[in-house]
Amino acid sequence: MRRTGCGPVYCEVLRLASQHLERNLEQARVSARGADRWRRLGHPWIYRSDVLEPPAGPPGAVAVVGPRREWLGMALWSPSSQIALRFLAAAAQSIDREFFRERLAAARAYRERLGVDGTAYRLVHGEADGLPSLIVDWYAGHVVVELLSAGLEAYRAELIEALVEVLTPLGILARNDVAVREHEQLPRSVDLLYGQVPEWVEVREGSVRYLAAPWTGQKTGAFLDQRENRQRVGELARGRALDCFAYHGSFTLHLARHADHVTALDTSADALARARVNVELNQQPAGAMRAAVELVEANAFDFLRAQEAAGARYDTIVLDPPAFAKRRGAVERAARGYKEINLRALKLLAPGGMLATFSCSFHVSMPLFRELLESAAADAGRPVRLLEWRGQALDHPEVLQIPESGYLKGAILRVD
Ligand code: SAH
Repeated sequence: MRRTGCGPVYCEVLRLASQHLERNLEQARVSARGADRWRRLGHPWIYRSDVLEPPAGPPGAVAVVGPRREWLGMALWSPSSQIALRFLAAAAQSIDREFFRERLAAARAYRERLGVDGTAYRLVHGEADGLPSLIVDWYAGHVVVELLSAGLEAYRAELIEALVEVLTPLGILARNDVAVREHEQLPRSVDLLYGQVPEWVEVREGSVRYLAAPWTGQKTGAFLDQRENRQRVGELARGRALDCFAYHGSFTLHLARHADHVTALDTSADALARARVNVELNQQPAGAMRAAVELVEANAFDFLRAQEAAGARYDTIVLDPPAFAKRRGAVERAARGYKEINLRALKLLAPGGMLATFSCSFHVSMPLFRELLESAAADAGRPVRLLEWRGQALDHPEVLQIPESGYLKGAILRVD
């Protein structure tokens, strides 16, 4: 609802409409601690343990009031989740197609200013874009969404209409097969919501092209959060390169434009088969790819150990493993895993060699990751320079008040 620039009569109409909504919405009453999360921390979640009186109705938008019934704002209500309330708006307003249309347009306007050099990017990064529990990724005209809360599911129809209106996509696919939907007691499935979405979508990323797999690929079809890091690492790559958790070859393709030889490694034969197709896709025009690419199906831990034993040397190494710590309780074990692969990689580098290393575990914080790298460098017994500290692509905005919006961290290191 627009609250500025209206004439006195129109303003009065809006005020009355808002009052009417406030009175008619289902209400959640929350504790002082719950209220504080919004008011003081600016964090959009209120946990179930801070809900004193839950709304009586089904999942959807509700009014949220504090312990003395003072107005706090509007939220999406998820009855079965630990995250019971997700902040939507400070004032009472209709949550309808117009609401989604405005927020989607704002999210798109932000991306337009970024000047993304590619045809696949994230259009909505959930809470960080004021659209809690919604992911929207753009793949060259095709849209892939994730609806991650029961509260949001209540607005599926309005959301689809708004997506069609704002983005005019060729198709919309819901990758609702993610595990977090179980916390919301929502079914897991992959559903075509609108138009057509093919099995493969060719996208461009800087100077390379690859096939995203919206129906079956990881996440929504590709790891878009690494786009800018891949381009940067590609620019810096040279000599013999090793891409250790290669998936469908997205780092490999960038490495291959600058290095002489690339070994791309993954445990998944299926991912490597797709990497092969992507390598072929980039062989035109002839000579565009400088390097020969070798695909190896192996466990990175074993491979690095064996290479070290064999006295192998690389000039460029990329480590982009899956999240080793998916829960807080798994951090210690994960830390050992990160340290091991980084230590082995540092030892394998030739003098002047570069290591680009990442962690997408939210629970492994940036200071912890740095500490692990320092410890690996110390154990490697070689001077290691920090060339660049890296984060997730800017179309995945990280909001300081919402730590959960940021998860990917990385470093580009050089060994003397
Ligand atoms: N770098 C990729 C994304 C990597 S996702 C990109 O930018 O697109 C992580 C990959 O690691 C997955 O493809 C998974 O199959 C692979 N993987 C998981 N455990 C592994 C292991 N121990 N050794 C090698 N690959 C592994």
